[in-house]
Amino acid sequence: MTDMLQLLNVESSYGPIRAIRGVSLKVRQGEIATVLGSNGAGKTTILKTISGIIDPLKGSVEFKGTNITAKDPAAIVQMGLTHVPEGREVFPLLSVHDNLLMGAYTRHDKDGVARDMETVFGYFPILRERAAQEAGLLSGGQQQMLAISRALMAAPELMLLDEPSLGLSPKLTKEIFEIVVRINRERGTTILLVEQNANMALNAADYGYVLENGRIVMEDACDKLREKDDIKEFYLGMK
Ligand code: ATP
Repeated sequence: MTDMLQLLNVESSYGPIRAIRGVSLKVRQGEIATVLGSNGAGKTTILKTISGIIDPLKGSVEFKGTNITAKDPAAIVQMGLTHVPEGREVFPLLSVHDNLLMGAYTRHDKDGVARDMETVFGYFPILRERAAQEAGLLSGGQQQMLAISRALMAAPELMLLDEPSLGLSPKLTKEIFEIVVRINRERGTTILLVEQNANMALNAADYGYVLENGRIVMEDACDKLREKDDIKEFYLGMK
């Protein structure tokens, strides 16, 4: 598999706080990769640096072989990379339908947009039922579904997902992860997922990185990571 995304030695800060300290990672075309790490490890900062929300102090980000370091976020979306932020950030006063259309704002292929709208309603039928409702009235889980669907409406090649399980029940988390895997398998969308829920992430993903204090401390295929004692003890809560 060829590399869709590559970070080389990336460092990003918030003023004096160095949130990530020399992160290098790769996401291969067609795979689900995950970055595991506890609260504050720097996971969100990695995604914000990739999608251009934060400019790194050092290092480079390459997407499909093009250097996109510190490029404008809208231009990065246009290239086929979308970000589902932590906390969803749906437009609360717009209808579900209009939120979905906002996801497709860079596209001009009306038929393709209509087809993709049907596809996301297939993944999340509740969104069709609620299409005319204000997005702010949806439950947390439904807003997560909408955020993922809105990102899909841009027809991305790479989707960044920030903690899709945050605040959701185990049942809903399982449902969301099943759809994420289907999106990857059926549409071929490459996915980079950051999660505190190591169990779900290691089940869904092919390859994983472990982030501690802004540094990658371990990486391997997920089936191998699951067998490592440190992962079992610190991330999977097993002894
Ligand atoms: P979480 O799961 O809690 O979001 P995370 O692994 O995504 O954690 P980040 O949000 O990337 O971690 O934060 C990394 C570090 O940067 C933390 O020490 C955090 O306190 C700090 N940080 C994050 N956002 C800001 C900000 N806007 N201003 C200052 N410091 C920040």
